[in-house]
Amino acid sequence: MEQTLKILVVDAKEEDRMAVRSALTKAGVQMELSEVSDGNDVFSVLSATVYDCVFLDYRLLNQDGLTFIQQLRSSEIKVPLVVLTGEGDEEIAVQLLKAGATDYLLRCRISPETLGQVLRSAIRVYRAEMQVALANQQLRESHEQLIRKNQELERQQQHIQMQNFNILEASQLKSDFLATISHELRTPMNAIIGFSQILLRPKFGQLTHQQADMIERILNNGKHLLMLLNEVLDFSKLETRRLDLKAEIFDLSKVINLAVSEMHSLAGVKNISLLVQTDLQNPLVFNDPVRVKQILMNLLSNAIKFTESGEIWVEIKEVAENRVLILVGDTGIGIAPKNFKRIFEAFRQVDQTITRKYPGTGLGLAIIDSLVRMMGGKIFLESKLGIGSMFKIELPRQITLSTVAADAPASQLDGDEVFCSAKNQHHSSSQASKASI
Ligand code: ADP
Repeated sequence: MEQTLKILVVDAKEEDRMAVRSALTKAGVQMELSEVSDGNDVFSVLSATVYDCVFLDYRLLNQDGLTFIQQLRSSEIKVPLVVLTGEGDEEIAVQLLKAGATDYLLRCRISPETLGQVLRSAIRVYRAEMQVALANQQLRESHEQLIRKNQELERQQQHIQMQNFNILEASQLKSDFLATISHELRTPMNAIIGFSQILLRPKFGQLTHQQADMIERILNNGKHLLMLLNEVLDFSKLETRRLDLKAEIFDLSKVINLAVSEMHSLAGVKNISLLVQTDLQNPLVFNDPVRVKQILMNLLSNAIKFTESGEIWVEIKEVAENRVLILVGDTGIGIAPKNFKRIFEAFRQVDQTITRKYPGTGLGLAIIDSLVRMMGGKIFLESKLGIGSMFKIELPRQITLSTVAADAPASQLDGDEVFCSAKNQHHSSSQASKASI
């Protein structure tokens, strides 16, 4: 050992202390050696100075040796402890080791070699023990820290669950409120529309031009308001999964043509041509005709709203086996790829400002998205700013009535290129209740 070791020899007899001292010197140990002859002084000496090793005569301990070592080990004093015992004390020595002594040595075996060895190994063992104790302590601390963190996480999780619950409750309340209000408003609105229509009939008396004009405005605004109310009602029903599809077999091209003819006058006002192309071998489908018409009317009214000049076209064709495609294209303002996904969210519009040019609730595409999802279909959007947009709705020829709104959005939206081509992803749907078409 290179460094100078501080060693304490505790022994009543001068000759025994000398035997230890000379053995260590002969072993070549560089040391500062202190000696204590009175056992009562051991604690105070060890408290005052830090030693590298203590050689302790077992006989010196006035009190019970085991208790002494246990007290020493449970105190702040940390030092390797070698107990010197007499012959026949081996059993006691084992107990001393259990109590915390680092090693023991029979007094009769004291020699430079053995003492040097015992000293080295005692210091090594003690250091290793200290490292283990330190590692254990760190382990205990990190374990406690983990427990605390776990508890904190559990508390946070409970808090989040609580907040989630509150949000769900608030959302449910909002949906109920929307449903109730829109439902309640529809009754007087229908009365306004109905009575305006009656007033416009000639048999109720001749109206002046100005009166007829005002009643027509009441009628048109009433219809518009009713449409908005219906949108809100549909949306709240879809949100709470209370909207059912009423499927039947019908001629898809007839429904599409009907929707287009109803939108013709609106397109005409803006001088936009509205074309339809039907390419169906078999026009019969099993779906909800009212909802299919609603999807098309919504897409068409958007196309007309966002197109200033040019044309709008509708195409229906068969795609893969048992799937039909409804396409609505326009030469309107177009949509930036970054907005492809957003516009399908409820109340989202590209222009969210109050002073926006184009009116609307921002619910149309969200409703379409949910309906198409319920039908087991997919939506594809291709668009370029300033050039136009194309919404493609791919539907199964026969919808499955058990299909409820799935969590994954129906829209497969591409946001990179000019008129980016739609990705074809298979959509599997179980065929619970089909009609033969
Ligand atoms: P609304 O039409 O009531 O605003 P929608 O959900 O139908 O709500 O549409 C959301 C938004 O998507 C619109 O506000 C508009 O910004 C954009 N959008 C929809 N269709 C078109 C289209 N054909 N051309 C350009 N933008 C469109």
